[in-house]
Amino acid sequence: MSNVLSRLNPSLATLPVYVPGRPIEEVAREHGLDPSGIIKLASNENPFGPSPKALKAMETVLRQLHLYPDGSASVLKRTLAESFGLRPENLILGNGSNEILEFVGHAMMRPGVEVVVPEFCFAVYPIVTALFGATLVTVPAVDFAADIDGMIRAITPRTGVLFLANPNNPTGTRTSREDILRLLREVPKDVLIVMDEAYIEFLEDPVDLVPQILSGEHTNLLLCRTFSKIFGLAGLRLGYGIAAPTLISAFEKVRQPFNINAIAQAGAVAALQDDEHQARTRDNNRVGVEYFQSAFQAMGMPYVPSHANFVLAKTGRGGAVFAALQQRGIITRPMGSYGLTDWLRISVGTPAENARCLMALREVLAAMPAA
Ligand SMILES: *Cc1c(COP(=O)(O)O)cnc(C)c1O
Repeated sequence: MSNVLSRLNPSLATLPVYVPGRPIEEVAREHGLDPSGIIKLASNENPFGPSPKALKAMETVLRQLHLYPDGSASVLKRTLAESFGLRPENLILGNGSNEILEFVGHAMMRPGVEVVVPEFCFAVYPIVTALFGATLVTVPAVDFAADIDGMIRAITPRTGVLFLANPNNPTGTRTSREDILRLLREVPKDVLIVMDEAYIEFLEDPVDLVPQILSGEHTNLLLCRTFSKIFGLAGLRLGYGIAAPTLISAFEKVRQPFNINAIAQAGAVAALQDDEHQARTRDNNRVGVEYFQSAFQAMGMPYVPSHANFVLAKTGRGGAVFAALQQRGIITRPMGSYGLTDWLRISVGTPAENARCLMALREVLAAMPAA
């Protein structure tokens, strides 16, 4: 019998599925818990919420929602350009930076194209690669971090794209300045380097690659950033890419005309100008990472030293620990889908949330039968 499913694109049959952090409402319903007592330390969100300035700006556009948004988001692009000392022509906006990763697929991937990623890379890179029928080339990590020389060696004449998140999710590892510059130097100019900088604002001394793009020497470099993490606007869905104007204009062709909604455009402009909210989040994060890491050290629990807003810890049986914490109203992220079945990723919350999570984790581990 004929069946429409037989007409599905073949890539769908083996496409990996993204497993998101569990929403508070769903966990509350499942466990009969009060949603207000649940804490979510699962998706690297900002525990302080959105910037108050962004909230106010977003309210003012509600009454204009009968109008289409500015399709080129010119005010937002100008504000971003001024913030980073570049031109609007260097910018592309996405419905989350995940959409920009998908633009990379639309623009550069097809069967026969190789895509180089480090082991333990962000789950979306393999998904986009498979979606467009390209071939994933995974380079083994060294101590959980990307092996830059290994990635350079993995490049062949068929390589079209290389993805590197710095700092990386889910490991929290960071690539050094020398390694980044060597990567830029040694990767052939016809291979797109996607530097995913979703957590760059958490670094005290980030490597600023904007000058590399402005120099005109790195027309194959795309920086991806997001409003989902330090800016506290994950629900708004907004990310941006920075690259040479030639690359940006090519990518603009695969972007839907109104992909950035009016609320996001208004909220992001205000959020960008709220340095205080960013600084407060960064400070809280530094203290929180240190809090978790010194506790794990004292407990004799291995962890990967983090440069981002989460810590990856070897709790043993990550899935079981995740489930037990969830019953206590604490949502974390099990790492089985990354092949790290003994590990758990915990996002940094407020000091009170961190303390509650740690206390529950100690209880759960103490009650856990020996493996
Ligand atoms: C969270 C995250 C993003 C951001 O995704 P959005 O679509 O902007 O919410 C991108 N890359 C990495 C590595 C991330 O961890």
